Amino acid sequence: MTHLFVSDLHLDAAEPEASDQFIAFLRGEARAAAALYILGDLFEAWVGDDDDDPERARVCAALATYTSSGVPCFVMHGNRDFLLGERFAAHTGCRLIADAVVTEIEGVRTLLAHGDLFCTGDVKYQQLRTIVRDPEWQRRLLALPLADRKLISGEARAGSRAHTSRVLPEIMDANPVAIEVATREFDVDVVIHGHTHRPGVHEFLVDGRPRKRIVLGAWYEQGSVIEAGPGGFQLRTLPRLNSPPRA
Ligand code: MN
Repeated sequence: MTHLFVSDLHLDAAEPEASDQFIAFLRGEARAAAALYILGDLFEAWVGDDDDDPERARVCAALATYTSSGVPCFVMHGNRDFLLGERFAAHTGCRLIADAVVTEIEGVRTLLAHGDLFCTGDVKYQQLRTIVRDPEWQRRLLALPLADRKLISGEARAGSRAHTSRVLPEIMDANPVAIEVATREFDVDVVIHGHTHRPGVHEFLVDGRPRKRIVLGAWYEQGSVIEAGPGGFQLRTLPRLNSPPRA
């Protein structure tokens, strides 16, 4: 039985093909897994569990069907869907997990994280991250009417696009020192994360011990999954069969 990991699906009504592919994935290969881990940014935006968006409801219904088949599904907050809450969890049967968290996969101590925590070079982003992950700030935001939260979310996404267009790509990438510190502090051999949309496998030594960082890709044009089984960890792309790549 394999453990599957995905992140950065950024599901949104504007790109229903990604939702279609994810739902097909839940009905297909993910059904045979021991567990599925969604490591943040499942949704492009999540303004609260009372969100009435039909595309998000479609994905949540598919998750509910999936978990009711008996496969545990763990969901971590990303920087887009940090407001996923207990009602989402109850409705979908998914379990919310902390960012970051250590788990043992096939006997290997593994750190799971969304990944933005490691982007320490982007100081402005880290300041914003501290604010939006503050429970008191989130409580005040959730107290606003849904329509107001949708407006704020739209503005935040525009602000994020403006920021990422100004900042150098290497500043926004995971910082190697932050990764090194995390492997030491959490005492792990493998780190799995997303967020940077730079899928890849990085092998390095920390304190003379081999470590591996596996980065998941986004689901904009194709799927990206890590499969962990007796043969180790494998990063794979999932071709989108039914629609041509975006121009
Ligand atoms: Mn992210």
